[in-house]
Amino acid sequence: MGKNENWRNWESAEAGGSPFFNADFVILISFAKVESIFAGGEKYAKIKPNQCLIIKTMEDNFEKIVSFGKRRGFVFPSSEIYGGLGGFYDFGPLGVELKNNIKKSWWKFMVQERENVVGLDSSIIMNPKIWEASGHTENFTDPLAECKCCHKRFRADHLMEKEGEEDFEKIKCPECEGEFIPPRQFNLMFKTFIGPVEEDAGKAYLRPETAQGIFVNYKNILDTQRVKIPFGIAQIGKAFRNEITPGNFIFRTREFEQMEMEYFVKPGEEDKAFDFWLNERMRWYTDALKIKKENLRIRKHDSEELAHYAKGCADIEYKFPIGWFEIEGIASRTDFDLKQHEKYSGQDLKYFDPETKESYLPYVIEPSCGVERIFLAALCDAYEEVEGGRTETTEAVKEKEALLKIDKSLAPIKIAILPLVKNKEPVVSKAKEVYKELGGNFQCQYDETGTIGRRYRRQDEIGTPFAVTVDFETLEDGAVTVRNRDTMEQERIKIEELKNYFFQKLN
Ligand code: ATP
Repeated sequence: MGKNENWRNWESAEAGGSPFFNADFVILISFAKVESIFAGGEKYAKIKPNQCLIIKTMEDNFEKIVSFGKRRGFVFPSSEIYGGLGGFYDFGPLGVELKNNIKKSWWKFMVQERENVVGLDSSIIMNPKIWEASGHTENFTDPLAECKCCHKRFRADHLMEKEGEEDFEKIKCPECEGEFIPPRQFNLMFKTFIGPVEEDAGKAYLRPETAQGIFVNYKNILDTQRVKIPFGIAQIGKAFRNEITPGNFIFRTREFEQMEMEYFVKPGEEDKAFDFWLNERMRWYTDALKIKKENLRIRKHDSEELAHYAKGCADIEYKFPIGWFEIEGIASRTDFDLKQHEKYSGQDLKYFDPETKESYLPYVIEPSCGVERIFLAALCDAYEEVEGGRTETTEAVKEKEALLKIDKSLAPIKIAILPLVKNKEPVVSKAKEVYKELGGNFQCQYDETGTIGRRYRRQDEIGTPFAVTVDFETLEDGAVTVRNRDTMEQERIKIEELKNYFFQKLN
């Protein structure tokens, strides 16, 4: 990373662009031309004319992930050729595979493997009364603070947290030291209009969460499926929030995907169910995604933090290079949502228990997570750089090698197919045959450009667990070399056994 980029991070963090700034500073070496780098920065660092503070921060590691994500086609800024759009991102060829793998894994764990959880795909735009009933129209707000001088906007609560100051009036604009206009509550829902005329009667919202789509379909599911309490309804889908300060790459965006489940239980059973789901959700991260245990923790909310209707709430946090942050929330929501929808819709949403002949509104446990935050956590967890490279047997390139030690279930590409040379037709056509054979069953990538060592490293960097090399010997013995990303061990496998070999290794 260039020094100017370092400086820019620091500046943007100070300006509130990154409200979670959490840096370790290390004074490294001296450097010339410091003035241009630190122009305007004297207040942070007094430096001699020929000395430079190279600020090595935890953010450097985060920046590495950001630039890796862009460089290797995982994530692109949205609308980039038009200068981008703040808080929106596009997912490239590798990103879409990783996202799909996260969603597939969640669906398998939450729906497929449980007989009492069913799926749903509800619409993004719904009757606006839903948001009145859920409280979003009135309460889904963040405190917006605007500087009287430079008119930059910030999240007031984030500034207070960062400054450790409880009285907002004492806080000055981090950008220009100006005073703030007293914060006002800003509703995060995106508005739109249904129909050709932009009038109040047609006003609607892009959903800020997928959960309400579940509550309003709860009765349809009761009536059409043979579900019995306790049961869950799970949904994956887009959500939109007009965040005041989107940032930290894809951690806080204005458009994102949620994976949510509402689990309906008999009142009185909610505490047991809450503990059960908290454990289950942690188990998904550690056992299914193989996220390192030491990078995960549970943070239980204290009573002041809880919504008035909630009985309990806990966040699963991941240790990002910029600090510990929420990737999932698990909430015990009582019967608040169903009660509200009964009130606003006039429909009876009670559950009739055929065994006890009782009717009641069930209580709800809600595990809710964001695909993009898990995506980011998975990259941070798996990304490694090896100084001087890993190769010991051959003449190594001796430059820094990047390695994505991501679990095979998440790896965007499962198998790379590499002809040893690209200018020998029999080798190339054999490699293409292998690609065709395996490509129908696994996500494969064919790559013939560059030396074989360079191609292995390219695949290591994007986390491909296996590489298959077709060489001259293949033409003689019908076998290929299979290389393992993590151990770098190689074994010869007959082409006709490859499919089964990979079914065993990858499933
Ligand atoms: P935060 O406090 O970070 O704003 P939240 O508590 O408002 O998050 P929830 O409403 O509980 O978040 O949403 C559930 C999950 O959805 C979060 O744990 C997170 O993974 C994801 N999520 C929420 N807001 C965003 C966002 N703006 N960008 C990306 N993911 C998000």
